[in-house]
Amino acid sequence: MKAKAFALALLALSSCARIYQVSLGADEVELFYREAEVRGYNLRDHDLIVKPGTLSGNTIGLCQLGGGPPTVTIDAEFWDTADADEREVLVFHELGHCLLDRPHVDDHLAIMSSYLLSSSYYAANKTALIDELFR
Ligand SMILES: [Zn+2]
Repeated sequence: MKAKAFALALLALSSCARIYQVSLGADEVELFYREAEVRGYNLRDHDLIVKPGTLSGNTIGLCQLGGGPPTVTIDAEFWDTADADEREVLVFHELGHCLLDRPHVDDHLAIMSSYLLSSSYYAANKTALIDELFR
């Protein structure tokens, strides 16, 4: 009986511990949390894994939900050649899926478009684009 109680307590503990493993894009993820907070969201308690990988075709980012912690895979080759704004919009897009549950939108000029925004457009319209992401 004692052993059983201990196992249950351990289970409860492990289900409360946050899983946070961000091995690339940590600055962009932090910025996403801050933009969320400015708009009244606290997403820091969510589990999150962000890791580099090799994605096929022209896919540069992937969010996987269900069965485990929300997991973002970023194409490592793209990441290495991307500029700061491209990295930011990619991480914001994937976290839009993984933490905000947002699907793709038809609008090509939105963070949740299936196509990566150009860094110049993103830089020039950042506040409005991020407002729309958290709407
Ligand atoms: Zn997407």
